[in-house]
Amino acid sequence: MTTAATLSGAHLGLFMALAPLTLGLIIYLVAYVAKRGEGSIVPPLGQSFACAKCGKRNVREHMVPAKFEGAVAWYCDHCAGDITSRAS
Ligand SMILES: [Zn+2]
Repeated sequence: MTTAATLSGAHLGLFMALAPLTLGLIIYLVAYVAKRGEGSIVPPLGQSFACAKCGKRNVREHMVPAKFEGAVAWYCDHCAGDITSRAS
């Protein structure tokens, strides 16, 4: 009985000694996962979009976004010019 009490006390001491280490490891893991999740939200540079009208593919910088009932469609420079001239 005395041996069991000493053993559990030793285990408790070991747990208390490892607690800050475990906590630090958990914080590190949470920060690592959060950073990874953040990175996946940002679209990669040089991502290409297909034109909604002619289907020509180009990088985002050369595409013009147009909103239609909440959805965003991408048009190339040529087709975007056609749409804006028709609308006005
Ligand atoms: Zn186009």
